[in-house]
Amino acid sequence: MAHMERTLTIIKPDAVRNAHTGAILEKIECAGFKIVALKMMQLSTRQAECFYVEHIHKPFYHELIGYMTASPVVVAVLEKEDAVEDYRRLVGHTSPQRAESGTLRALYGKDVTQNAVHASDSIVSSQRECSFFFSDSEMI
Ligand code: ADP
Repeated sequence: MAHMERTLTIIKPDAVRNAHTGAILEKIECAGFKIVALKMMQLSTRQAECFYVEHIHKPFYHELIGYMTASPVVVAVLEKEDAVEDYRRLVGHTSPQRAESGTLRALYGKDVTQNAVHASDSIVSSQRECSFFFSDSEMI
């Protein structure tokens, strides 16, 4: 049975810099997601380190933090039935080269680090990630 869910997306620095924000938000809305919170910001090193704390021991961690803090991002909370799984499908594989055609990463990603968008990977992490960036009163 389908459940109304919320998930977090980040339009990452490469995609914002390359002026893909509007196109990505349009694809998100066309796919049936409702945007219930939205803002542009530049992540501090500390914020990026906290957000990606689960990857702290990965070889790409420092590269990831440097990339995510290099220039502004757009952060949004998306609502839809089965939002977490459906948005992961719209986003595609971590590596844009392996992502199915038509997915956001296939369309706008450059490589496995600069892959255009973030998507929460579970309901538990979506709850943590939405409240990482937005207070309850900022999510309509
Ligand atoms: P996803 O974002 O697809 O859930 P992960 O949670 O595994 O992927 O990784 C978080 C982010 O770290 C990725 O979106 C990407 O920006 C970066 N990343 C993941 N794997 C690699 C890698 N092998 N080399 C460099 N960067 C990576």
